[in-house]
Amino acid sequence: MTKTILCLPGDGIGPEVVAEATKLLDCLQQDAGLEVEVELGLVGGSAYDQHGTPLPDPTLDAARSADAILLGAVGGPKWEALPYAVRPERGLLALRSELGLFANLRPALTYHALADASSLKRELVTGLDLMIVRELTGGIYFGQPRGVRVGDGGEKEGFNTLVYRESEVRRIARVAFEIADQRGKKLCSVDKANVLESTELWREVVIETSRQFPAVALTHMYVDNAAMQLVRQPKQFDVIVTTNMFGDILSDAAAMVTGSIGMLPSASLDAGGKGMYEPIHGSAPDIAGQGVANPLATLLSVAMMLRYSFAQAATAGSVEQAVDSVLNDGLRTADIAAGGAVPVSTSEMGDAVVQAVRRLLAESPSMRQDTRG
Ligand code: NAD
Repeated sequence: MTKTILCLPGDGIGPEVVAEATKLLDCLQQDAGLEVEVELGLVGGSAYDQHGTPLPDPTLDAARSADAILLGAVGGPKWEALPYAVRPERGLLALRSELGLFANLRPALTYHALADASSLKRELVTGLDLMIVRELTGGIYFGQPRGVRVGDGGEKEGFNTLVYRESEVRRIARVAFEIADQRGKKLCSVDKANVLESTELWREVVIETSRQFPAVALTHMYVDNAAMQLVRQPKQFDVIVTTNMFGDILSDAAAMVTGSIGMLPSASLDAGGKGMYEPIHGSAPDIAGQGVANPLATLLSVAMMLRYSFAQAATAGSVEQAVDSVLNDGLRTADIAAGGAVPVSTSEMGDAVVQAVRRLLAESPSMRQDTRG
């Protein structure tokens, strides 16, 4: 059955990197039997310019009916002085919460050819393949009550509420166990159960959920130790599951361990497996319009879409292998070029990946139209 993908290029380099993703989707339609219809929509600053809001109703309606969403990036200096409620980033946050995208998947993967780009020693990151599963719609970022008030004694105080319901923990734990079950079968749940009651409950529910996944080895780690272990020996982890705020911080640390922000994709999923896929980088206003942005994070976001929303793991693998192969051939955009390598443009990198995908699909027909659930 034909699936619908809503593409939201957004602002800055967003349209440049999403253009490469649409080339890839065209190629997968022609060569891998992928049956998709691609629609375009406005979000962020470009939506504000046309509709006076960063998330116009037609975009939200199209996002609700699409099977998956591919987003570039939003924001930029042009919109920084706008009131908070209509800033480009609000469009993105509203989209995530309107669609109930509670599970944020952030892989941190080191490509052999780029191991020297990491801030850690090569041997610590070579072969790193870690997945952080972050709860995205609950916890302290959303808990009520919150605010700034005048407390006893007339002094102002800021306060937030860290609250997790059992059902919220159970659904994110299930996503993490399912992913671990398909990967290295190791799940580390990160909490602060020694001082926070809400994460004591988190731990209890994760342990309870683990009974349905006997093949996955579950461990627990306090967040301060997890931060340390991520930079000490990141390869000890397979899948990490954690709360919204801890995941926010740990996933950025893990991203930097891999060395380049232009390489990392992400997925945000709802309870039915529908997802929004996006590179983790922003709109990079400093290089927008120059045709030099690295499109690989966006192309790898398409691979995540194939794997998690369309259950086409083999085709996803062809995209990931193609990225590996162009890097091994020495192709680099400016952000990952080192040692005098002549950088290629955004579209040259996109074309090279598409060509490599075509070659891989021709060589291994089993990578086409994988319908395993
Ligand atoms: P950024 O990720 O846009 O840029 C940080 C640095 O990384 C810049 O030097 C940029 O040139 C570089 N960079 C980022 N992506 C790259 C790529 N694909 N190829 C090559 N280089 C790349 O972060 P920022 O500068 O803090 O934010 C810029 C704008 O993006 C802000 O308005 C911010 O709010 C927004 N933002 C949006 C998202 C999103 O849409 N998901 C995420 C983060 C920031």
